[in-house]
Amino acid sequence: MTSATKKVTYIAPPEENVTTPVPRRAVLAMPEYHPPLAGRDALRLDFNENTFAASPKVIERMRQITAEGLTKYPEREGVEAIAAKHFGLEADQILLTNGVDEAIHLVCAAFLEEDDEAIVCTPTFFMYEVSAGMMTAHVKKVQTDASLVFPYERFLEAITPRTKLIMVASPNNPTGAVVSREHLLGICNAAPQAVVMVDEAYYHFFGETLFDEVGDVPNLMVARTFSKAYGLASLRIGMLAGSAELMKYVRKVSSPYNVNGVALDCLPVALADEAYVAWYAEQVRAGLARMMDGLRALGVEFFPSHANFVLMQIGAKHAELVKAMRARGVLLRDRSTDPGCDGYVRITIGVEEHVTRGLAALKESLAEIGWKREQVVESASKQISEGDREWE
Ligand code: PMP
Repeated sequence: MTSATKKVTYIAPPEENVTTPVPRRAVLAMPEYHPPLAGRDALRLDFNENTFAASPKVIERMRQITAEGLTKYPEREGVEAIAAKHFGLEADQILLTNGVDEAIHLVCAAFLEEDDEAIVCTPTFFMYEVSAGMMTAHVKKVQTDASLVFPYERFLEAITPRTKLIMVASPNNPTGAVVSREHLLGICNAAPQAVVMVDEAYYHFFGETLFDEVGDVPNLMVARTFSKAYGLASLRIGMLAGSAELMKYVRKVSSPYNVNGVALDCLPVALADEAYVAWYAEQVRAGLARMMDGLRALGVEFFPSHANFVLMQIGAKHAELVKAMRARGVLLRDRSTDPGCDGYVRITIGVEEHVTRGLAALKESLAEIGWKREQVVESASKQISEGDREWE
């Protein structure tokens, strides 16, 4: 500081005049998302992550990162071209994002005006509500019935001329329910004025995609994450795909350096190691079948899942179960506060050994808390096996 520079100090106003800046009304009204992330030094069957590891080739690539390399701002475009080619898309049809979380945020920022409506089906991934709520007070939540099946007809009925954004996860979180291709395209047809973002975060465990419709269906966007099967949740990388025109708007609201350079260095290697992702997805598929069999044997009702987790209907003892499992070093996620999920607890499916440990701990914990199969009024699994509803 030169002697000519006058030091500016903060002068506190008299107490009666103290004000703090007020956020936008939409921000005041927004729900907060506080995932219980503290103290996760245990078997992580709580957040639907890959429970094991990323491809060893990714770690190898990471070891080649230099101190000088870290000094550069990340360059997204080259990696975007690689990712687009990998998925059979054009480079202007995709955007790499800071996880799907950011993709959701950007889509809301790009398309939602204050008066527009957004539609989601509940229960679902909570970030839809958070990001859409940031832009508009008109977030319509179409609640499933007790079966937890996607309520297609009622969802269509919720669409109005003001509907501007529709977000659907298939497979859905926390249920593992899927929405058929026919119904997803039906939603696109029913709301041509709205962006329909299909979240395929759990694609690898199900195997159905709408990537082939990107560009042909003008209002369709598809989101994919590298946090699940690829095991890169910590790198924060996801992808959004859509027609070049829609993507142009999303790109406008994205910051140029939204994806960090380490993630960009690693993504091409992760994509190229298809055998690793296929192996992990197969571990989960086998583990899922084993978990569902194990739950049947224990008498626990559950929603038949198409993802790397199972939503179990535990009933009144849901919190006790989570506590007993934690005491055995296994983390679960209590979903009881999700709409329509009272008494439900979610367990992530990982590699074989982790499923074995999870099942063993579950058996012990249920016995310890004196859990008995409760009279369930509407059995999710029973309803689902009726007719063609198993698709949803
Ligand atoms: N979509 C769904 C349906 C999810 O369940 C999750 C993660 N829980 C995400 C998106 C977030 O993915 P990412 O880690 O890429 O932000």
